[in-house]
Amino acid sequence: MPKVLEHVDARYDIEEMQLGKVYKWRPESVLIECECGQSTTLTVSETTCEECGKEHMALLQEALAEQRSSRQCLGEEELHPWRYAEESEDEDDDPILWV
Ligand SMILES: [Zn+2]
Repeated sequence: MPKVLEHVDARYDIEEMQLGKVYKWRPESVLIECECGQSTTLTVSETTCEECGKEHMALLQEALAEQRSSRQCLGEEELHPWRYAEESEDEDDDPILWV
């Protein structure tokens, strides 16, 4: 049976670029170990094993449902991290790019 190794919540990754900060949206994902032995990352838009092509939709949905029932709602800080950037004293200092 495939097993769930790690669950990663949806979040923004912040990258420092020369022109400013770039916020990249990362969808919620689940790292699993497939029956074929390959570790593969599943998201709602990518539910098959990278190695053997096996469909893991059911496993993904189960993992996501379990996670949702056990955590609280995302806070304002997770949803809008740029509002809390420490060096951002200027209120107009919004990120230059969302990806
Ligand atoms: Zn596989």
